[in-house]
Amino acid sequence: MKKVAIIGGGLSGLTAAFYLARQNKNIDWQVYEASARFGGHIKTVHKQGYIIEKGPDSFLARKPAGMQLIHDLKLDSELVKNATGQSYIYQNKIFHPIPEGSIMGIPTKLKPFLKSKLFSPLGKVRVLYELIKPADRSKEDQSLGDFFEKRFGKEMVTHLIEPLFSGIYAGNLYQMSLRATYPAMETLLNENGSILKGLRKQRVQTTGTKQTIGAFRTLKGGMTQLVDELVKQLPAERCHLNKAIENIEKKKIDIIYYSKMEK
Ligand SMILES: Cc1cc2nc3c(=O)[nH]c(=O)nc-3n(C[C@H](O)[C@H](O)[C@H](O)COP(=O)(O)OP(=O)(O)OC[C@H]3O[C@@H](n4cnc5c(N)ncnc54)[C@H](O)[C@@H]3O)c2cc1C
Repeated sequence: MKKVAIIGGGLSGLTAAFYLARQNKNIDWQVYEASARFGGHIKTVHKQGYIIEKGPDSFLARKPAGMQLIHDLKLDSELVKNATGQSYIYQNKIFHPIPEGSIMGIPTKLKPFLKSKLFSPLGKVRVLYELIKPADRSKEDQSLGDFFEKRFGKEMVTHLIEPLFSGIYAGNLYQMSLRATYPAMETLLNENGSILKGLRKQRVQTTGTKQTIGAFRTLKGGMTQLVDELVKQLPAERCHLNKAIENIEKKKIDIIYYSKMEK
């Protein structure tokens, strides 16, 4: 019998355990979670009738693995399409609406962008200069921060792009690789000579199609419901909390499932 140690009881680790348990009874698997709770970054708080997500708030419906997991856990009836409301950027003690038509902060509609008080007049001119700025097709990878700053100027990056991207990747824009995180942006630039032109073209192509509506899903009880259901369907005696793995002796374990080791 093979022994599998699943290190980390976040969504990846619990999902790996769930499918291992379903697929092969000849595997002796165990989940080891360092902290006192399962779920990793997923953390839902219920407060005064509100569901507040401290980490991920939804997942993309078009990516099959997430929807398959929901189906396999029999949670289909618990799915919720998130309705997108107005998002704001909090700056200098004021909530500024993100200009309508922005894609990852980059404007595709002129009027809402020009009306926005998030940017100075000079900052806006610098953003629009991107339309005619020659595309500096780089052979080397670069940071997301450098890439966007070169195209749109510093103000656009600090006021809008950085808050949005940092919310997704939870990291420093100037330390994240463009090609590892958002290669599509570079392709867009290379193919259209300008990101603004490329995004506007995409928007025209997708507007009015159902693809743009309800792209994300969550569960009625928030994302933690997914974790709770996984834990409920897994045998408790195989899922261990407060067990930080510090080293691995290869002799004793055949397969290691590696889930975001922080050390
Ligand atoms: C603020 C924020 C918002 C996000 N929003 C979204 C979103 O809306 N949609 C989306 O799809 N994704 C989102 N993400 C990304 C998503 O949260 C992660 O991709 C996902 O939760 C990663 O799951 P994981 O199990 O791989 O890792 P983690 O959730 O990091 O879990 C890893 C687990 O391993 C444990 N561990 C680490 N080292 C050890 C050890 N040595 N021994 C034992 N256990 C160990 C940790 O304690 C942790 O519980 C967001 C991330 C953040 C931070």
